Amino acid sequence: MRMKASDYFSESYAEARQRFLAAASEAGAHIESYENGNARGPGGTRLFMDTAWFGPANAETVLLNVSGTHGAEGYGGSAAQTAWIGEMGPAALPQGVALLMVHAVNPFGFAWGLRGTENNVDLNRNFLDHTKPHPENPLYGEIHRILCPDSMSEEAVQKMLSAGARFVEKYGQWALEDAISRGQYTHPDGYHFGGTAPEWSNVTLSGIVARDLAHAHRVGFVDWHSGPVGDGELIYLCYSEPGSEGFQRAAQWWGREALDPKTVEAMWGSKRPTRRGTMFHGIEEMLAPHAQFSGAVIEFRSAQPKNNAAKAMRVPMLERWLRFIGGFDAPEAARYFEEIREDYAPRRQSWRENVIANGLACYERTLDGLAGWSREGLKAAD
Ligand SMILES: [Zn+2]
Repeated sequence: MRMKASDYFSESYAEARQRFLAAASEAGAHIESYENGNARGPGGTRLFMDTAWFGPANAETVLLNVSGTHGAEGYGGSAAQTAWIGEMGPAALPQGVALLMVHAVNPFGFAWGLRGTENNVDLNRNFLDHTKPHPENPLYGEIHRILCPDSMSEEAVQKMLSAGARFVEKYGQWALEDAISRGQYTHPDGYHFGGTAPEWSNVTLSGIVARDLAHAHRVGFVDWHSGPVGDGELIYLCYSEPGSEGFQRAAQWWGREALDPKTVEAMWGSKRPTRRGTMFHGIEEMLAPHAQFSGAVIEFRSAQPKNNAAKAMRVPMLERWLRFIGGFDAPEAARYFEEIREDYAPRRQSWRENVIANGLACYERTLDGLAGWSREGLKAAD
């Protein structure tokens, strides 16, 4: 019997993990668990990245599906994963195709309801060679001080906004957004910090890819995220160059329209920032010697509309305040955690229903696409 959408959603990371593991184990998946010994969640909760493999162990075509890259965004992704296991499951896999689910890539962020890792690192800026000079982001240094007030008071926020407005006058709105979110490697207490070494989550996921996908020749990738304003609609962020083989294939699966930068920017709400050090490119590069790669970061739109600049910056500012100013035990902390949660993983029923419906439909299309890709692969090998 079909379960209600809300039955797949959890109130905490620990509950989400337990639901995922129970469903995977009941479906007969091969499960592995990796503990992050560097950090704990609320109340001393132990933190794990878990994997579940569905389908033939020797499949050459594999869908790699991850959740919780950005911590708190894992609520939607975890629910979609658990729903696939419950509603479709291994019986729905096309011949020759396996599905490798990775649950809670960033369990620290998931458990606390934050976006970054235990080191305030944005994992999607961390997948690059840290022995080489890091990508530059010269404007970030200029706005870091402006955007990092010591207090969340009305006065401090107003001061920040007028300084921000002067910045926009000088460089333009997009330059501000790009400088904030493209990634920076100079301010560990700032926004979208990419780290100075591979994070535990990066090392662990890379190990999983190296071991579990060693025999794969074709890897599809779906990385569930949430955040932009909306109610569970999907935004497909394919980081392959338009026109490349990887992009063409993803467009076959999900539709040219869905991947069109015009559609993506309209749904995202602004022009997309520059990206370096993404997990997408990190995994693609790791697999390049033996496997073709195609996929996307897929966002479940989730946040409520923001009608002014202060509101648009508020959630990242709250995360920063909790980590570096007030601390997780401050009197305001519970309220701030709740506000962040509302943006990435709202409790609205409509959102939860749309996440499950759109998530399951996406799994179906993606697996159909992988079925065709697998047949092509077999033909080519004849
Ligand atoms: Zn995200």
